[in-house]
Amino acid sequence: MAIPPQAMPEQDAKVRAHNMNEVALGYTPEMAMREASRCMQCPAKPCMQGCPVAIDIPGFLAKAAEGDFEGALAIIRKTSLLPAVCGRVCPQEKQCQKFCTMGKLLKDVDKAVAIGRVERFVADLARESSSTTGKGASKAPSAPSTGRRVAVIGSGPASITCAADCARAGHEVTMFEAFHKPGGVLVYGIPEFRLPKSIVQQEIDGLKALGVKVELNYVVGRTRKLKDLMAKDGFDAVFIGTGAGLPKFMDIEGENLVGVFSANEYLTRANLMKAYDEGGHDTPFWHGRRVAVLGGGNVAMDASRMALRLGAEKVYLVYRRSEAEMPARREEVHHAKEEGVEFLMLQNAKRVLGDDQGRVVGLECLKYELGEPDASGRRSPVPIAGSEFTLDVDTVVVAVGNASNPLIPATTDGLEINRRGNIVVDPEANMTSIPGVFAGGDIVLGAATVILAMGEGRRAAAGINAYLAAKGK
Ligand code: FAD
Ligand code: SF4
Repeated sequence: MAIPPQAMPEQDAKVRAHNMNEVALGYTPEMAMREASRCMQCPAKPCMQGCPVAIDIPGFLAKAAEGDFEGALAIIRKTSLLPAVCGRVCPQEKQCQKFCTMGKLLKDVDKAVAIGRVERFVADLARESSSTTGKGASKAPSAPSTGRRVAVIGSGPASITCAADCARAGHEVTMFEAFHKPGGVLVYGIPEFRLPKSIVQQEIDGLKALGVKVELNYVVGRTRKLKDLMAKDGFDAVFIGTGAGLPKFMDIEGENLVGVFSANEYLTRANLMKAYDEGGHDTPFWHGRRVAVLGGGNVAMDASRMALRLGAEKVYLVYRRSEAEMPARREEVHHAKEEGVEFLMLQNAKRVLGDDQGRVVGLECLKYELGEPDASGRRSPVPIAGSEFTLDVDTVVVAVGNASNPLIPATTDGLEINRRGNIVVDPEANMTSIPGVFAGGDIVLGAATVILAMGEGRRAAAGINAYLAAKGK
């Protein structure tokens, strides 16, 4: 307890709010060793119960504390395929670090052992000293060829993990991605300043090194129906990892005015299509001067921080509950505030105001107070009658959630979905209602997290491997 928590070096808030470079700069080897040596090696390993893929956390921290960073990474890689990604984006304060004894003793979850930061350090060190992170993946021995073919639809964390595990089992794997770049939300949603795209590309290169073929601009359900992949193209099993890319809107007046965007479109143009690189890329973009972002999750934080980097003079984050109820990662909330995003808590959009050209000129909002807890367990927001006021904005970005991608269920007979549109799978092997068709990640869970998607991809791959083994030659 005598060793102080090692703070993460970061770009200065005023500078970084206007560039796309990564905000957190990463530990030095000395800092990583010092932070890892804060771990008390609790015999009951409470931190592990908070990790969705049960990484041996004290095990890897012990290696890192000794300076054996390769050994630390080898332990992480036993259960997690994407440590450089998860070390950066996992909500550790709600997972492993929430249960850490050190944080409990110091009565502050932010003083728990910084498990994610050490994870990131050991993953980055290996990445920087090899040409691909996938080298880590490809190092693991692959089984001899089985002659079986697996189609993986989508290329987000669920699909990357499933493809890697199926390829390692000796199957011939082809990944089909609708966009022109692979990586799913890791590429089109989460901005460069939180997750450099070179890291995701290295993971894709690692998959290719394992023999996975990647077909881009291929929309299953349009380019080819899912059942044709099996009946006509000879795939023996299919994994659906198409995510939750269908944006939800507020259903308020004025939402179709020019200057209102879904956060998905806003971030996809900026990230995937590099609209921030004016001159270097042709993607058209809307340069909002005064921007209101609606929502309180990671997507809302990313959109508001992106708006600053795209040149907005003023960015408001409008959220109808209080900060305590915000689902966003604490670190992102902290960073957004430091960068100058103004948080308007217990307030919500009532209607978007437009001019005679149909362009946004303001946002009418209403104030709220907290009532009784609702079905989510959080105190419900109750509007205060007569509390309307107007924000002077020219851009509104709606970030109030995403639903599952509906195309494949709509074009595949016999594929069972639940009332929220998520694909129904058996919880043991992630097989859907169609034999040989598996699914995982956000398309099953609804909008969730990278680590949960990864865990689903791994379970589905085990299901596919068992299914193909049972089918025999
Ligand atoms: P996705 O990553 O959504 O990938 C699905 C892929 O399938 C996409 O590339 C899509 O183009 C493709 N696809 C869809 N339909 C088809 C089709 N018919 N044919 C072919 N391809 C198709 N989680 C965290 O843990 N931490 C964070 O900080 C965090 N921040 C986030 C920020 C944003 C802006 C967003 C949107 C999400 C964030 N999340 C975060 C959530 C996390 O990214 C997702 O839970 C995760 O990416 C889901 O993985 P997936 O593999 O299921 O799907
Ligand atoms: Fe180490 Fe915290 Fe896990 Fe204990 S709970 S083993 S201190 S990381």
